[in-house]
Amino acid sequence: MTFVFSPPAQASVAIAGSADLFPVHRIYCVGRNYADHAIEMGDTGREAPFFFMKPADAVLPVAEGSVGVMPYPSMTQDLQHEIELVVAIGRGGKDIAVADAVAHIWGYAIGLDMTRRDLQGASKKLGRPWCTGKGFDYSAPIGPLHREVPSGTISLQVNGVPRQAGTLGNMIWNVAETIAQLSTLFELQAGDLIFTGTPAGVAAVVPGDLLEGRIEGLGSLQVRIDQ
Ligand code: MN
Repeated sequence: MTFVFSPPAQASVAIAGSADLFPVHRIYCVGRNYADHAIEMGDTGREAPFFFMKPADAVLPVAEGSVGVMPYPSMTQDLQHEIELVVAIGRGGKDIAVADAVAHIWGYAIGLDMTRRDLQGASKKLGRPWCTGKGFDYSAPIGPLHREVPSGTISLQVNGVPRQAGTLGNMIWNVAETIAQLSTLFELQAGDLIFTGTPAGVAAVVPGDLLEGRIEGLGSLQVRIDQ
């Protein structure tokens, strides 16, 4: 039996104001990086940040001014949104000092760390990995990358109703500290994306819902949940 081998495409995300694409190398995510969300997930205190990953091709790139369409994933009854600031690495390195970290950043985007909360919860209970809860196909919708440094508010509405709201300054570990910590564990490379955690208010979505995330300075990210 023969078949034609189709090589996998390079995962990529949009760049604001450009037709060029930013190739994605890896997707790192920070857990519990806003105090109010850590509390809603049952944690308190400033422990060292912890990380998990999604596959690079979990990105669902959403071009400027368009609405992304995310298929409702299989094997879950509790798909939840987490609005996050995404940092794109433009220059790699390991053991990066906090003071040098910002110089490794290429740009910033709005992202959604979509989560099968029921599967993640079962994994936590059993001490198992989070891959099925966090790293599934299309689990990382992301808007275009901007070069400007954002600051200020981060929020998410579902069907026009506010769900999540916070300020980037409320991160437990700021962007520079996160890059420094992550680079002690992995050698960062150009093309890496880092999801930097979500504020409180995570909740379920259903097919037909329209999610609209906003971060001051980065515009908005719109995603509709499909069947
Ligand atoms: Mn998250």
